Amino acid sequence: MDVLDRAELGFPKSLPEFQELFPDDAACAGFLEKARWPNGFTCPHCQKTGEPSRIKSRPTVLTCRQCRRQSTLMSGTVMERSHTPLSTWFWAAYLVISQTNGMSAAQFQRQLGLSRYETAFGLLHKLRAAMVRPNQDRIGGLPGQHVEIDETWIGGRTRGEGRGVHHKVLVACAVEVRHRKNGTAQALRKGGRYAGRVRLVVVSDRSANQLGGFVGSVVTPGTRLVTDDWTGYAGLRARGYDHNAIATRGRPEVSEEFLPIVHLVFSNLKTWLSGTHHGVSPRHLQAYLNEFTFRFNRRFYPFNAFRSLLGIAAEVSSPTLNELYSGDWQHPTYSRCMR
Ligand SMILES: [Zn+2]
Repeated sequence: MDVLDRAELGFPKSLPEFQELFPDDAACAGFLEKARWPNGFTCPHCQKTGEPSRIKSRPTVLTCRQCRRQSTLMSGTVMERSHTPLSTWFWAAYLVISQTNGMSAAQFQRQLGLSRYETAFGLLHKLRAAMVRPNQDRIGGLPGQHVEIDETWIGGRTRGEGRGVHHKVLVACAVEVRHRKNGTAQALRKGGRYAGRVRLVVVSDRSANQLGGFVGSVVTPGTRLVTDDWTGYAGLRARGYDHNAIATRGRPEVSEEFLPIVHLVFSNLKTWLSGTHHGVSPRHLQAYLNEFTFRFNRRFYPFNAFRSLLGIAAEVSSPTLNELYSGDWQHPTYSRCMR
């Protein structure tokens, strides 16, 4: 069952509540154990279910009473192989979720009182890796709703590099457009339109192959789509979409009329990237897009994201620091075909 649907798992709504729920490693271990094994501990070695033996000084280690082998609560989660205490992970997840704008690794290091910058950097990136569900649903597909699609260049000069060194990366976005109920004051703003779920993926160019592939992987076929009339979107009808290409002819008021929501997403994204992170290297951009998407799609339920993050944490693989620095780690994207 989805961890979000499980009422028995406590849920911090404030800092004092957080402290009360998760005062130490043992409390965090208890939470994680309940989240992973709602029907009681099941040994990953012999598959027997039953109360395990516990070591008081090591609350994350459970010993199976049948086969006597040990398992750790962190195995198979983003916390695996980490020497960071469980309570620090919980603090980190809470900080990442509860700060609307996210945090830089340096801020994070200060807040958690970590001695090494690398530890903060590694924690942040592992939590970001956990911000993507492995089997993302495709968006759209709802009657009366359409999806706006557009692409934009992100980035520019990176700190510490010379003038004229540019790392611009192309990012494609699909966003559901929803409508407020008639009669409310908000229904009058932007024609009552607001953003539903969003998907953001780095693409290598503006070709029909890349942009069409992006749409095919993130939007349900049959959905009504609105794009500009760039040739890269020309094949969407053949891919099974109800495609409406708007001839903007470079006039901003036309794209503001037909593509207001996707432009709002790009504007929020750029503000977030430059304000919080002071620019991002192209190699890590997809990870930041994933974090932005996670926050954006849960913006009306900020605290649910905390449990969601821990729930997801049990299902995804995560990079080691060496993998992150060497560039071997491929940040999760919504579509494996986009790599
Ligand atoms: Zn066993």
